Amino acid sequence: MIQICEVGPRDGLQNEKKILSTEQKVDLIKRLIDAGIQKIEAVSFVNPKVVPQMADAEEVLRHVPRTENVTYAGLVLSRSGLERALKTDVDALHIVLAASNEFNLRNARRSVEQSVNELVPVITEAVAAGKSVVGVLGTSFGCPFEGEVPLDRILRIADQFMNAGCQEITLADTTGMANPKQVKDTVLAFKQTFGEQSPLGLHFHNTRGLGLANVFAGYEAGVRRFDSSIAGLGGCPFAPKAVGNVCTEDMVNMFHQMEIGTGTQLEKLINTACWMETQIGRRLDGMMMKVHESSC
Ligand code: ZN
Repeated sequence: MIQICEVGPRDGLQNEKKILSTEQKVDLIKRLIDAGIQKIEAVSFVNPKVVPQMADAEEVLRHVPRTENVTYAGLVLSRSGLERALKTDVDALHIVLAASNEFNLRNARRSVEQSVNELVPVITEAVAAGKSVVGVLGTSFGCPFEGEVPLDRILRIADQFMNAGCQEITLADTTGMANPKQVKDTVLAFKQTFGEQSPLGLHFHNTRGLGLANVFAGYEAGVRRFDSSIAGLGGCPFAPKAVGNVCTEDMVNMFHQMEIGTGTQLEKLINTACWMETQIGRRLDGMMMKVHESSC
């Protein structure tokens, strides 16, 4: 069984120029839940001047349906983000840094070391406050500014984050630079270092068309948790030409075709992707909704 973390409402929307209303975001989240999605990265607690699409994080969380099976996560890059998050009833915090120095300077205005030093106590406090905490390491498979990001650095940061209390690590390919062999080697190195059962998620972007190939490589290496974005929404305002995340309904179709369960209903996801296009007002990247164009 695959566990999907739907990142459309956060990673997806934050790169869209068109600002959606709180109501539209809540509507999207309701549709995703109706399609069977159980984990949603719904908001980001970042400076609204830098990422205006996420300015209504608190408002979104106040209006989403609270059901037992659904976990809402919010992104945190700094101590001030934690302080905002702890005033909400968000279930999980995704504590993020980029493993590449130059990228992290642009994204979080801190060096990797500064971010680690700031985020280790942030993780400890979030855990103490009863939140589930995932450490997300961006640019784990390469950086558009620095190129290769050393694997030993990624493993060292993962170690520091887990020691601080992170229950899970997600390795993120922020600008879609990963390839399937690299994914396999990285997952195996992670498992060798932290043990076979150590919870690991993968987050891919489809920038170079390798998103689903990378998901499959991760699956073959034993990973069962994947981030994806409805309709293939997504990108990163700080990454040149980064395009969408791996598309949720395309990924679900791949797994269902392989007779691997995801707990979601493909038709409802496709309908949600079609609806998303009408809200954003342009064609989006997902493939399955094009196959099903007549149902849109
Ligand atoms: Zn991303």
